[in-house]
Amino acid sequence: MNSIDEKLQPILAEVIRRNAGETEFHQAVHEVLESLGRVVAKHPHYLEQALVERICEPERQIIFRIPWIDDRGQVQINRGFRVQFNSALGPYKGGMRFHPSVNVGIIKFLSFEQTFKNALTGMPIGGAKGGSDFDPKGRSEAEIMRFCQSLVTELHRHVGEYTDVPAGDIGVGGREIGYMFGQFKRLTNRYEAGVITGKALAYGGSCARTESTGYGNSYFVQAMLETRGTGFDGRKVVVSGSGNVAIYTIEKVQSFGGKVIACSDSGGYVLDDAGIDLALLKEIKEARRQRISEYAKAKGASARFVETGRGSVWDIPCEVAMPSATQNELSGRDAAKLIGNGVIAVGEGANMPCTPEAIRAFREAGILFGPGKAANAGGVTTSALEMQQNASRDTWTFEKTEARLASIMRSIHDLCHATAEEYGAPGDYVLGANIAGFVRVAEAMRMLGVI
Ligand code: GLU
Repeated sequence: MNSIDEKLQPILAEVIRRNAGETEFHQAVHEVLESLGRVVAKHPHYLEQALVERICEPERQIIFRIPWIDDRGQVQINRGFRVQFNSALGPYKGGMRFHPSVNVGIIKFLSFEQTFKNALTGMPIGGAKGGSDFDPKGRSEAEIMRFCQSLVTELHRHVGEYTDVPAGDIGVGGREIGYMFGQFKRLTNRYEAGVITGKALAYGGSCARTESTGYGNSYFVQAMLETRGTGFDGRKVVVSGSGNVAIYTIEKVQSFGGKVIACSDSGGYVLDDAGIDLALLKEIKEARRQRISEYAKAKGASARFVETGRGSVWDIPCEVAMPSATQNELSGRDAAKLIGNGVIAVGEGANMPCTPEAIRAFREAGILFGPGKAANAGGVTTSALEMQQNASRDTWTFEKTEARLASIMRSIHDLCHATAEEYGAPGDYVLGANIAGFVRVAEAMRMLGVI
């Protein structure tokens, strides 16, 4: 559908050359540059001032050793990362991911995406991401605490309320945020609540932060559906994943009258034609921290578990698909299957869950497609609201916080929609999100001189 404008091609070639082997980062840059041809044609100063090149180069990349001692007394070594991509709009902001697949390319793509996502929210936050190749699976509470403490022993010198504000992502939830904040407080002797978000309510967290990514994606998809005069009511929905994003997507979609019939984890997926039993799912995933296969065991004959490798969650016929697990989880083949089964809308709850082939297929078929940097911005939006509450030493009610989230998601949707129209591609949210996010960051950078 779109190819890269010839003036932008050398920029991509240079990104690939100097970030060799970082395929996810190349993929994320490719997607943004594909959208920018119309922008540089209209505003050539972005090229003259090398703003596109500058935006593709992280401001700072930190890689460090994380030594820690496991429960058997053995020394373990992991690698820690923080890529502070862009601070034109505010302090660096973005989550930490703990997963064995983490490497510098993954963190670089995530922090690049985060920069545009954060710009779309309209909040004063720059873009960053961090994490480690640490695998929390099978680790005890004490091991997780020692690991978090060791990580922060290095990270604390690079973060701060006005510098860089981490949060959670895959493998990092309220428990890990608590251990990281606790160690930061000890090392700095400061109660700097705004240094990290995703905190528990007990010590400066925000209502609705846990729910916000899933809720936000649901609001975004609802707004896309409204442009076609419809909504979630009575529709069959498939959500992948069963972590924080997936669980609260299911909750909000159900409240909008949608019927979520499947969700998954790395071991496989469950199909429950009666609609996912959210209380049971929460019990298994949030309280017991077990595999999704336990859901089917508890439900007996009414639910089916299909192991990974024996089928894809995207083979299930549905009208709305909300990929909420991880990057590149939905392939071109999966997209073709979904389109054949009559899908009308896709909202990316995870970061970059659809491959470029899948995105192309959805756009060509005229499916409503909400790209992650817009559709999943609800999490970081509520993080920015948490920062506001911390700065004013205030706490808001759940209702007030959710109302702010809903109105910001609506404005992100409307901005992407209007931008796509302005640039001659009505209904193309990928183009709208990439252009609107880029213009906000590029304009701020232009005003700040050659930075
Ligand atoms: N990890 C989340 C994201 O991908 C949230 C980041 C944050 O709250 O800073 O946007």
